[in-house]
Amino acid sequence: MPLDSDFFVKFWGVRGSIPCPGPDTAIYGGNTPCVEIRCGSNVLIFDAGTGIRPLGNILAADNVRDVDLFLTHTHLDHINGFPMFNFLFDDKNQLKIWAGRREVWSSIKDIFEKFMAPPIWPLSIENLGAEIIFSDFEIGQVFSPKPGIIIRTVNLNHPQGAVGYRVDFSGKSICYVTDTEHAKDCRDQNILKLIEGADIVIYDASFTDEEYPNFVGWGHSTWQEGVRLCTDAGAQRLAVFHHLPGRSDDELAIIDSSVGVLLPGSVVAREGMVLAP
Ligand SMILES: [Zn+2]
Ligand SMILES: [Zn+2]
Repeated sequence: MPLDSDFFVKFWGVRGSIPCPGPDTAIYGGNTPCVEIRCGSNVLIFDAGTGIRPLGNILAADNVRDVDLFLTHTHLDHINGFPMFNFLFDDKNQLKIWAGRREVWSSIKDIFEKFMAPPIWPLSIENLGAEIIFSDFEIGQVFSPKPGIIIRTVNLNHPQGAVGYRVDFSGKSICYVTDTEHAKDCRDQNILKLIEGADIVIYDASFTDEEYPNFVGWGHSTWQEGVRLCTDAGAQRLAVFHHLPGRSDDELAIIDSSVGVLLPGSVVAREGMVLAP
């Protein structure tokens, strides 16, 4: 039984762009973004990349019936696990899907109706067992999906946009800031404000500072920028996230040892890792 004050993040998918299983990614993992944040007995999920499939098995084993899913955006790597999320197939379950309002779509429900429909997928979203509720919010809004949980949101710099989240619970905070590109010579003020004094910051670190000049405009950032943001914002720990598909375990291990030196307690996120503020 979870304690009412339990608060932790568990990583189910840490890889950007496309799933990449194989011998070179076996340690850090090859599933696309999916992060579980438990607040007492409440389960929040951030993004529905392929990591959400194994998470579904744990939710079934724990008899979890009510889940809130927050999407950063709908690029394929952030929703491609959704059709195989077995939580959807049980009519005793309720899923609320939250997404920031965008000019590029009329509603998040509209996107899921298009994405989960024949001939792209054999089942349409109307024919699943679970009750699914869609909630479009204004980006920048602060809201409370469950008692005692505060969610803050900001817009991120990414093609078609993305939402950065901060979760405050039990006097602690975890931020999920992925799919964002930094400005060249200054910190992103929206992100600095969001992560101010946070305990854990999960950050898009697809590139290194050395690689970044070749990828300007791709909508992603660097692990070194994550360190600079956390330092300037007085945030405690960075979790390097959204690894490039081609980034091997050996390369990530080198980043892992460097990031902890620059900001103690910081790590490269890997599948199965649990961090508690
Ligand atoms: Zn992505
Ligand atoms: Zn994206």
